[in-house]
Amino acid sequence: MAAAARKSDSLIERLPPTRGRLEAGAPLGAQTWFGAGGHAEILFKPEDRDDLSDFLKGLPRDVPVTVIGIGSNVLIRDGGIEGVVIRLGKAFGNAATIGLEVHCGAAALDANVARVAQQAGIAGLEFLVGIPGSVGGAIVMNAGAYGAEIKDVFVSAEAVDMRGAIHVVDGNALAFSYRHSKAPGDWIFTSAVLRGTPGNPDVIEARMNEIRSKRDDAQPLKTRTGGSTFKNPPGQKAWELIDKAGCRGLKRGGAMVSVKHCNFLINIGGATASDLEDLGEEVRARVKDASGIELQWEIRRLGRRLA
Ligand SMILES: Cc1cc2nc3c(=O)[nH]c(=O)nc-3n(C[C@H](O)[C@H](O)[C@H](O)COP(=O)(O)OP(=O)(O)OC[C@H]3O[C@@H](n4cnc5c(N)ncnc54)[C@H](O)[C@@H]3O)c2cc1C
Repeated sequence: MAAAARKSDSLIERLPPTRGRLEAGAPLGAQTWFGAGGHAEILFKPEDRDDLSDFLKGLPRDVPVTVIGIGSNVLIRDGGIEGVVIRLGKAFGNAATIGLEVHCGAAALDANVARVAQQAGIAGLEFLVGIPGSVGGAIVMNAGAYGAEIKDVFVSAEAVDMRGAIHVVDGNALAFSYRHSKAPGDWIFTSAVLRGTPGNPDVIEARMNEIRSKRDDAQPLKTRTGGSTFKNPPGQKAWELIDKAGCRGLKRGGAMVSVKHCNFLINIGGATASDLEDLGEEVRARVKDASGIELQWEIRRLGRRLA
Protein backbone atom coordinates (compact mmCIF):
# COMPACT_ATOMS: atom_id res chain seq x y z
CA MET A 1 0.00 0.00 0.00
CA ALA A 2 2.89 2.36 0.86
CA ALA A 3 4.44 1.67 -2.55
CA ALA A 4 1.08 2.34 -4.26
CA ALA A 5 0.72 5.65 -2.36
CA ARG A 6 4.25 6.69 -3.42
CA LYS A 7 3.40 5.87 -7.06
CA SER A 8 0.20 8.00 -6.89
CA ASP A 9 2.17 10.88 -5.33
CA SER A 10 4.70 10.79 -8.15
CA LEU A 11 1.92 10.58 -10.77
CA ILE A 12 0.08 13.57 -9.31
CA GLU A 13 3.25 15.65 -9.66
CA ARG A 14 3.34 14.89 -13.40
CA LEU A 15 -0.23 16.05 -14.04
CA PRO A 16 -1.06 19.42 -15.63
CA PRO A 17 -2.52 22.26 -13.57
CA THR A 18 -6.29 22.25 -13.17
CA ARG A 19 -9.05 24.32 -11.59
CA GLY A 20 -10.76 21.04 -10.70
CA ARG A 21 -10.02 18.40 -8.02
CA LEU A 22 -7.38 15.69 -7.98
CA GLU A 23 -7.48 12.97 -5.37
CA ALA A 24 -4.89 10.21 -5.00
CA GLY A 25 -6.10 6.73 -4.00
CA ALA A 26 -9.80 7.63 -4.19
CA PRO A 27 -12.05 4.75 -3.07
CA LEU A 28 -13.93 4.24 -6.30
CA GLY A 29 -15.52 0.80 -5.97
CA ALA A 30 -17.31 1.87 -2.79
CA GLN A 31 -18.96 4.70 -4.74
CA THR A 32 -20.41 2.46 -7.45
CA TRP A 33 -23.81 0.85 -7.27
CA PHE A 34 -22.17 -2.51 -6.45
CA GLY A 35 -20.37 -0.93 -3.50
CA ALA A 36 -17.40 -3.21 -4.19
CA GLY A 37 -14.00 -2.92 -5.81
CA GLY A 38 -10.78 -0.95 -5.69
CA HIS A 39 -9.39 2.57 -5.83
CA ALA A 40 -8.60 5.06 -8.56
CA GLU A 41 -4.88 5.82 -8.61
CA ILE A 42 -5.91 9.43 -9.24
CA LEU A 43 -9.50 10.66 -9.42
CA PHE A 44 -9.97 13.88 -11.43
CA LYS A 45 -13.13 15.98 -11.25
CA PRO A 46 -12.83 18.80 -13.80
CA GLU A 47 -14.27 22.21 -12.99
CA ASP A 48 -15.86 22.62 -16.44
CA ARG A 49 -15.42 21.59 -20.07
CA ASP A 50 -12.48 23.92 -20.75
CA ASP A 51 -10.70 22.73 -17.62
CA LEU A 52 -11.15 19.14 -18.85
CA SER A 53 -9.89 20.02 -22.31
CA ASP A 54 -6.82 21.91 -21.00
CA PHE A 55 -5.99 19.09 -18.60
CA LEU A 56 -6.10 16.50 -21.39
CA LYS A 57 -4.01 18.71 -23.69
CA GLY A 58 -1.27 18.80 -21.04
CA LEU A 59 -1.55 15.19 -19.85
CA PRO A 60 1.56 13.06 -20.55
CA ARG A 61 0.62 10.50 -23.23
CA ASP A 62 1.74 7.51 -21.17
CA VAL A 63 -0.84 8.12 -18.42
CA PRO A 64 -3.88 5.85 -18.84
CA VAL A 65 -7.26 7.58 -18.61
CA THR A 66 -10.60 6.00 -17.69
CA VAL A 67 -13.93 7.79 -17.52
CA ILE A 68 -16.84 6.76 -15.36
CA GLY A 69 -20.31 8.16 -14.88
CA ILE A 70 -22.12 7.44 -11.63
CA GLY A 71 -21.08 3.81 -11.64
CA SER A 72 -24.41 2.04 -12.17
CA ASN A 73 -23.10 -0.18 -14.94
CA VAL A 74 -19.49 -0.79 -13.98
CA LEU A 75 -17.57 -3.20 -11.83
CA ILE A 76 -14.27 -1.75 -10.58
CA ARG A 77 -11.89 -4.66 -10.07
CA ASP A 78 -10.26 -5.04 -6.63
CA GLY A 79 -6.79 -4.01 -7.81
CA GLY A 80 -8.18 -0.60 -8.78
CA ILE A 81 -7.69 1.52 -11.87
CA GLU A 82 -4.26 2.69 -12.87
CA GLY A 83 -3.68 6.26 -14.03
CA VAL A 84 -6.33 8.98 -14.01
CA VAL A 85 -10.03 8.25 -13.60
CA ILE A 86 -12.24 11.13 -14.74
CA ARG A 87 -15.64 11.67 -13.23
CA LEU A 88 -17.75 14.67 -14.16
CA GLY A 89 -19.27 16.52 -11.22
CA LYS A 90 -21.94 19.11 -10.49
CA ALA A 91 -20.79 21.55 -13.18
CA PHE A 92 -21.95 18.96 -15.74
CA GLY A 93 -25.23 18.13 -13.99
CA ASN A 94 -27.60 20.74 -15.43
CA ALA A 95 -30.74 19.97 -17.48
CA ALA A 96 -32.96 22.65 -19.08
CA THR A 97 -35.52 22.70 -21.87
CA ILE A 98 -35.63 24.74 -25.06
CA GLY A 99 -38.80 24.00 -27.03
CA LEU A 100 -39.00 20.21 -27.31
CA GLU A 101 -35.32 19.74 -26.52
CA VAL A 102 -33.61 19.00 -23.24
CA HIS A 103 -30.09 20.41 -23.07
CA CYS A 104 -28.18 18.56 -20.40
CA GLY A 105 -24.74 18.11 -18.95
CA ALA A 106 -23.31 14.60 -19.22
CA ALA A 107 -23.42 14.17 -15.44
CA ALA A 108 -27.15 15.00 -15.28
CA LEU A 109 -29.04 12.06 -13.79
CA ASP A 110 -31.31 10.26 -16.24
CA ALA A 111 -34.17 10.52 -13.76
CA ASN A 112 -33.74 14.31 -13.51
CA VAL A 113 -33.76 14.64 -17.29
CA ALA A 114 -37.02 12.66 -17.38
CA ARG A 115 -38.49 14.94 -14.68
CA VAL A 116 -37.41 18.18 -16.42
CA ALA A 117 -38.92 16.94 -19.70
CA GLN A 118 -42.17 15.92 -18.00
CA GLN A 119 -42.56 19.31 -16.34
CA ALA A 120 -42.11 21.04 -19.70
CA GLY A 121 -44.66 18.76 -21.41
CA ILE A 122 -42.06 16.88 -23.46
CA ALA A 123 -43.02 13.24 -24.01
CA GLY A 124 -40.76 10.35 -25.02
CA LEU A 125 -38.07 10.72 -22.37
CA GLU A 126 -40.04 9.11 -19.55
CA PHE A 127 -38.19 5.78 -19.97
CA LEU A 128 -35.17 7.54 -18.41
CA VAL A 129 -36.95 7.79 -15.05
CA GLY A 130 -36.01 4.24 -14.12
CA ILE A 131 -32.43 4.19 -15.33
CA PRO A 132 -30.16 5.04 -12.42
CA GLY A 133 -27.26 6.42 -14.48
CA SER A 134 -26.06 9.71 -15.96
CA VAL A 135 -26.54 11.07 -19.47
CA GLY A 136 -22.88 10.34 -20.41
CA GLY A 137 -23.24 6.69 -19.43
CA ALA A 138 -26.63 6.51 -21.17
CA ILE A 139 -25.12 7.70 -24.47
CA VAL A 140 -22.21 5.27 -24.36
CA MET A 141 -24.47 2.33 -23.40
CA ASN A 142 -27.44 3.44 -25.55
CA ALA A 143 -29.41 2.94 -22.34
CA GLY A 144 -33.04 1.97 -22.73
CA ALA A 145 -36.08 0.48 -21.06
CA TYR A 146 -39.70 -0.32 -21.80
CA GLY A 147 -39.36 -0.13 -25.57
CA ALA A 148 -37.40 3.14 -25.82
CA GLU A 149 -33.71 3.91 -25.85
CA ILE A 150 -31.39 6.91 -26.08
CA LYS A 151 -31.11 6.62 -29.84
CA ASP A 152 -34.85 7.48 -30.14
CA VAL A 153 -34.43 10.88 -28.48
CA PHE A 154 -30.83 11.74 -29.28
CA VAL A 155 -30.09 14.94 -31.23
CA SER A 156 -26.42 15.66 -30.59
CA ALA A 157 -23.67 15.52 -28.01
CA GLU A 158 -20.42 17.25 -27.29
CA ALA A 159 -17.32 15.29 -26.32
CA VAL A 160 -13.68 15.97 -25.53
CA ASP A 161 -11.06 13.55 -26.84
CA MET A 162 -7.85 12.51 -25.10
CA ARG A 163 -5.91 15.31 -26.78
CA GLY A 164 -8.38 17.88 -25.49
CA ALA A 165 -10.11 18.52 -28.85
CA ILE A 166 -13.84 19.18 -28.73
CA HIS A 167 -16.25 17.29 -31.02
CA VAL A 168 -19.97 17.69 -31.68
CA VAL A 169 -21.76 14.63 -33.08
CA ASP A 170 -25.21 13.58 -34.16
CA GLY A 171 -26.80 10.16 -33.77
CA ASN A 172 -25.61 8.84 -37.14
CA ALA A 173 -22.01 9.30 -36.09
CA LEU A 174 -22.60 7.21 -32.97
CA ALA A 175 -24.36 4.34 -34.83
CA PHE A 176 -26.41 3.28 -31.80
CA SER A 177 -27.38 -0.36 -31.45
CA TYR A 178 -28.66 -2.53 -28.57
CA ARG A 179 -26.84 -1.30 -25.40
CA HIS A 180 -24.00 -0.05 -27.54
CA SER A 181 -22.80 3.04 -29.37
CA LYS A 182 -19.85 3.48 -31.63
CA ALA A 183 -18.59 6.37 -29.52
CA PRO A 184 -14.81 6.44 -29.90
CA GLY A 185 -13.33 4.83 -26.77
CA ASP A 186 -11.25 7.92 -25.99
CA TRP A 187 -14.13 10.43 -25.98
CA ILE A 188 -15.55 11.95 -22.83
CA PHE A 189 -19.08 13.20 -23.36
CA THR A 190 -19.66 16.53 -21.64
CA SER A 191 -23.20 17.47 -22.75
CA ALA A 192 -26.09 16.34 -24.93
CA VAL A 193 -29.29 17.52 -26.56
CA LEU A 194 -32.26 15.14 -26.40
CA ARG A 195 -35.58 15.73 -28.11
CA GLY A 196 -39.11 14.53 -27.40
CA THR A 197 -42.59 15.21 -28.71
CA PRO A 198 -45.37 17.41 -27.32
CA GLY A 199 -47.22 15.74 -24.44
CA ASN A 200 -49.48 16.39 -21.50
CA PRO A 201 -47.45 16.61 -18.24
CA ASP A 202 -50.08 14.62 -16.30
CA VAL A 203 -50.12 11.82 -18.86
CA ILE A 204 -46.31 11.73 -18.92
CA GLU A 205 -46.21 11.64 -15.12
CA ALA A 206 -48.67 8.74 -15.04
CA ARG A 207 -46.44 6.84 -17.46
CA MET A 208 -43.40 7.58 -15.27
CA ASN A 209 -45.21 6.26 -12.20
CA GLU A 210 -46.17 3.13 -14.12
CA ILE A 211 -42.51 2.56 -15.10
CA ARG A 212 -41.37 3.07 -11.49
CA SER A 213 -43.85 0.59 -10.11
CA LYS A 214 -43.09 -2.06 -12.79
CA ARG A 215 -39.41 -1.74 -11.83
CA ASP A 216 -40.11 -2.04 -8.13
CA ASP A 217 -42.01 -5.25 -8.81
CA ALA A 218 -39.41 -6.80 -11.11
CA GLN A 219 -35.97 -5.65 -9.96
CA PRO A 220 -33.97 -5.79 -6.71
CA LEU A 221 -33.66 -1.99 -6.55
CA LYS A 222 -33.03 -1.77 -2.83
CA THR A 223 -29.87 -3.89 -3.01
CA ARG A 224 -26.37 -3.17 -4.25
CA THR A 225 -26.37 -4.22 -7.89
CA GLY A 226 -25.10 -3.17 -11.31
CA GLY A 227 -28.38 -3.69 -13.17
CA SER A 228 -28.57 -6.23 -16.02
CA THR A 229 -25.35 -8.21 -15.98
CA PHE A 230 -25.56 -9.71 -19.47
CA LYS A 231 -27.00 -8.49 -22.75
CA ASN A 232 -30.03 -10.31 -24.08
CA PRO A 233 -28.80 -12.58 -26.92
CA PRO A 234 -30.76 -12.02 -30.17
CA GLY A 235 -34.28 -13.44 -29.74
CA GLN A 236 -33.61 -14.63 -26.17
CA LYS A 237 -33.89 -13.26 -22.66
CA ALA A 238 -30.70 -13.51 -20.60
CA TRP A 239 -32.67 -14.02 -17.36
CA GLU A 240 -34.56 -17.00 -18.80
CA LEU A 241 -31.33 -18.69 -19.92
CA ILE A 242 -29.80 -18.06 -16.47
CA ASP A 243 -32.89 -19.42 -14.74
CA LYS A 244 -33.00 -22.53 -16.93
CA ALA A 245 -29.32 -23.14 -16.17
CA GLY A 246 -30.24 -23.30 -12.46
CA CYS A 247 -28.37 -20.15 -11.42
CA ARG A 248 -31.10 -18.26 -9.58
CA GLY A 249 -29.82 -17.63 -6.02
CA LEU A 250 -26.32 -18.98 -6.80
CA LYS A 251 -23.71 -17.51 -4.42
CA ARG A 252 -19.99 -16.86 -4.30
CA GLY A 253 -18.56 -15.06 -1.27
CA GLY A 254 -20.70 -11.98 -0.77
CA ALA A 255 -22.08 -12.10 -4.31
CA MET A 256 -25.38 -13.66 -5.32
CA VAL A 257 -27.53 -14.08 -8.41
CA SER A 258 -30.69 -12.19 -7.48
CA VAL A 259 -33.68 -14.38 -6.73
CA LYS A 260 -36.01 -11.56 -7.82
CA HIS A 261 -34.38 -10.97 -11.23
CA CYS A 262 -31.72 -13.48 -12.11
CA ASN A 263 -29.91 -11.30 -14.67
CA PHE A 264 -28.94 -9.07 -11.71
CA LEU A 265 -25.90 -9.88 -9.57
CA ILE A 266 -26.14 -8.45 -6.07
CA ASN A 267 -23.72 -7.68 -3.27
CA ILE A 268 -25.39 -9.26 -0.26
CA GLY A 269 -22.69 -7.87 2.03
CA GLY A 270 -18.92 -7.76 1.85
CA ALA A 271 -18.65 -8.96 -1.77
CA THR A 272 -15.37 -8.28 -3.51
CA ALA A 273 -15.32 -7.37 -7.17
CA SER A 274 -13.74 -10.78 -7.78
CA ASP A 275 -16.67 -12.52 -6.05
CA LEU A 276 -19.03 -10.69 -8.42
CA GLU A 277 -16.98 -11.23 -11.57
CA ASP A 278 -16.25 -14.90 -10.79
CA LEU A 279 -19.92 -15.52 -10.08
CA GLY A 280 -20.77 -13.88 -13.41
CA GLU A 281 -18.26 -16.13 -15.18
CA GLU A 282 -19.74 -19.18 -13.45
CA VAL A 283 -23.19 -18.14 -14.70
CA ARG A 284 -21.81 -17.75 -18.25
CA ALA A 285 -20.24 -21.23 -18.08
CA ARG A 286 -23.43 -22.85 -16.76
CA VAL A 287 -25.57 -21.13 -19.41
CA LYS A 288 -23.13 -22.25 -22.12
CA ASP A 289 -23.36 -25.87 -20.85
CA ALA A 290 -27.14 -25.78 -20.59
CA SER A 291 -28.04 -23.95 -23.81
CA GLY A 292 -24.89 -23.59 -25.93
CA ILE A 293 -25.30 -19.78 -25.77
CA GLU A 294 -22.43 -17.55 -24.70
CA LEU A 295 -23.74 -14.59 -22.72
CA GLN A 296 -21.97 -11.28 -23.25
CA TRP A 297 -21.30 -8.97 -20.31
CA GLU A 298 -23.34 -5.76 -20.38
CA ILE A 299 -21.64 -4.50 -17.22
CA ARG A 300 -18.28 -2.90 -17.98
CA ARG A 301 -15.47 -4.40 -15.91
CA LEU A 302 -12.70 -1.88 -15.33
CA GLY A 303 -9.24 -2.02 -13.76
CA ARG A 304 -7.01 -4.84 -12.53
CA ARG A 305 -7.74 -7.95 -10.55
CA LEU A 306 -5.68 -8.38 -7.39
CA ALA A 307 -2.76 -10.72 -8.05
C1 LIG B 1 -30.80 -1.09 -10.57
C2 LIG B 1 -30.31 -0.80 -11.96
C3 LIG B 1 -31.21 -0.80 -13.01
C4 LIG B 1 -30.76 -0.51 -14.32
N1 LIG B 1 -31.67 -0.52 -15.35
C5 LIG B 1 -31.26 -0.22 -16.60
C6 LIG B 1 -32.18 -0.19 -17.70
O1 LIG B 1 -33.36 -0.40 -17.53
N2 LIG B 1 -31.72 0.10 -18.93
C7 LIG B 1 -30.39 0.36 -19.16
O2 LIG B 1 -30.03 0.63 -20.31
N3 LIG B 1 -29.49 0.32 -18.15
C8 LIG B 1 -29.88 0.04 -16.89
N4 LIG B 1 -28.97 0.01 -15.88
C9 LIG B 1 -27.55 0.22 -16.17
C10 LIG B 1 -27.07 1.65 -16.09
O3 LIG B 1 -27.88 2.45 -15.24
C11 LIG B 1 -26.96 2.33 -17.47
O4 LIG B 1 -26.10 1.63 -18.34
C12 LIG B 1 -26.46 3.77 -17.33
O5 LIG B 1 -26.62 4.40 -18.59
C13 LIG B 1 -25.00 3.88 -16.94
O6 LIG B 1 -24.72 5.23 -16.63
P1 LIG B 1 -23.62 5.62 -15.54
O7 LIG B 1 -23.55 7.09 -15.48
O8 LIG B 1 -23.87 4.94 -14.26
O9 LIG B 1 -22.31 5.06 -16.23
P2 LIG B 1 -21.16 4.10 -15.63
O10 LIG B 1 -21.78 2.84 -15.14
O11 LIG B 1 -20.36 4.89 -14.65
O12 LIG B 1 -20.32 3.86 -16.95
C14 LIG B 1 -20.86 3.02 -17.97
C15 LIG B 1 -19.95 3.17 -19.22
O13 LIG B 1 -20.14 4.48 -19.73
C16 LIG B 1 -18.88 5.17 -19.82
N5 LIG B 1 -19.15 6.58 -19.49
C17 LIG B 1 -19.85 7.07 -18.45
N6 LIG B 1 -19.93 8.41 -18.53
C18 LIG B 1 -19.26 8.78 -19.64
C19 LIG B 1 -18.97 10.03 -20.28
N7 LIG B 1 -19.39 11.21 -19.76
N8 LIG B 1 -18.25 10.02 -21.44
C20 LIG B 1 -17.80 8.86 -21.97
N9 LIG B 1 -18.01 7.65 -21.40
C21 LIG B 1 -18.75 7.61 -20.27
C22 LIG B 1 -17.95 4.49 -18.83
O14 LIG B 1 -16.60 4.58 -19.23
C23 LIG B 1 -18.46 3.04 -18.90
O15 LIG B 1 -17.85 2.37 -19.98
C24 LIG B 1 -29.39 -0.26 -14.56
C25 LIG B 1 -28.48 -0.26 -13.49
C26 LIG B 1 -28.93 -0.51 -12.20
C27 LIG B 1 -27.94 -0.49 -11.07
